[in-house]
Amino acid sequence: MPVVSTFTQQNMPAAADAVIIGAGIQGCAAAYYMARRGAKVVVLEKARIAGQQSGRAWGFVRAMDRDPAETRLMIEGMKLWRGLEAELGADIEWRQDGNLFLARDEAELAQFEIGAARDRIFGIDARVIAPKEVSALMPGLTNPGPGALWGPSEGQAEPRKVSPALARKASELGALFFEGCGAIAIERQGGAVASVISEAGAIRTRIVILAAGASSFRVMRGLGLDLPQQIARFTCSRTNTLAPISRIAFFGHHIGFRQRPDGSLNLAEELQVDVDLTLDRFRALRWFLPSLRDNWRASTFCLNASAWRDLQCRLPWREEARLPWIHDRDPVVPANFARVRNAVHRFEALFPSARGVQAVESWAGNVDLMPDGIPVLGPVAALPGLILATGMTGHGFGMGPIVGKLTSEVALDGKPSLDLSAFRFERYAEGRTGKSSTRY
Ligand SMILES: Cc1cc2nc3c(=O)[nH]c(=O)nc-3n(C[C@H](O)[C@H](O)[C@H](O)COP(=O)(O)OP(=O)(O)OC[C@H]3O[C@@H](n4cnc5c(N)ncnc54)[C@H](O)[C@@H]3O)c2cc1C
Repeated sequence: MPVVSTFTQQNMPAAADAVIIGAGIQGCAAAYYMARRGAKVVVLEKARIAGQQSGRAWGFVRAMDRDPAETRLMIEGMKLWRGLEAELGADIEWRQDGNLFLARDEAELAQFEIGAARDRIFGIDARVIAPKEVSALMPGLTNPGPGALWGPSEGQAEPRKVSPALARKASELGALFFEGCGAIAIERQGGAVASVISEAGAIRTRIVILAAGASSFRVMRGLGLDLPQQIARFTCSRTNTLAPISRIAFFGHHIGFRQRPDGSLNLAEELQVDVDLTLDRFRALRWFLPSLRDNWRASTFCLNASAWRDLQCRLPWREEARLPWIHDRDPVVPANFARVRNAVHRFEALFPSARGVQAVESWAGNVDLMPDGIPVLGPVAALPGLILATGMTGHGFGMGPIVGKLTSEVALDGKPSLDLSAFRFERYAEGRTGKSSTRY
């Protein structure tokens, strides 16, 4: 039976200019920028558009305080964000009211000084401010700490709206999105990509964009390539509607929050790494030992239902075991309610005027981490035609539009308008990787 696109009601085509695996923000943005240039694109999504990380993020969009390789990308990325609502004809709750990161101590403040000076060389509006200025920006805050990193031009947007808006516009421009229909294999001819096998049949194509988030390593493993990607679980909550607190997106005193236009907060603990102990967690362990040592106190190792579910998916008689690229199609990712309670208590202590704060909805997402804290982007030398847009390491919502645009350029022009060499897949085999210093 032919599979029909959820968006356009069209059948799965026999051929396409490109097939994108995964309809998170990277896949949807790549589809949009390719469709805008007239390319015939098919997006395969094993579950739902933005069903994983991209619909579960907090919604911070920042250029400052990044790895220098990402900074250059985000300068262009911020320009794209500014025009996105108008281009897509959609409300994505885009605002540019600034990000404020309180320093934990004087040592972190000194680090912020160095980072802000570097960011300013790139033209990013970032500076360190004194406690008095912090209090003036956040009038209800009881403790401004030793000072903060302030980026008045940083932004925020609503994750539940952005990817669907990109997908809608891409489909208006001719892209075909198939939900509940995953990619299960790639066929080669002469060593290069020749077609993608979806759950509904084969699509001839010379270009595959892999944007499968925390499942990308499974696809790479099926191709005989080792992507040292790991998964950690991040929890977030939405609160009840509160009186106006601030339009600034805030990190500090171990929490992060932003207040949405309806008054509710997206609220979470700031640095949190819950690691569910499934078999795959041991796979790339050696790559992650240095950052594990640094983040040991913020990490929690959990033997829970995810481990049991993972084992079930491996039983040889189950569909999941026959389709390793699909594995757990739409994983249930449990929120960590101890972190939810902590975040609410800390918030109430910091903003005592905001009374009766309740987490009315809590969720978690499986975040895909790379050992050096930056994504893996661009072509793969071992398999011509395969382009990666993955490993976003907990900060890929903000990078989505620029990653989608650059990926579309690699696919259509053979090279991107910005240098992606720092992000190439081959860096791991070459041993040219640093340690992660990422802010999630
Ligand atoms: C709680 C939380 C808070 C966050 N906050 C922020 C933030 O404030 N700012 C920020 O910049 N980032 C944030 N992030 C990180 C950000 O959400 C991710 O980096 C980004 O969404 C990753 O997008 P993606 O498209 O790469 O992956 P995903 O959104 O995970 O999408 C991958 C898709 O691929 C599909 N897929 C997998 N395998 C297959 C297959 N074989 N065939 C077809 N489809 C397949 C999956 O079903 C999934 O839909 C947060 C993440 C979480 C969980």
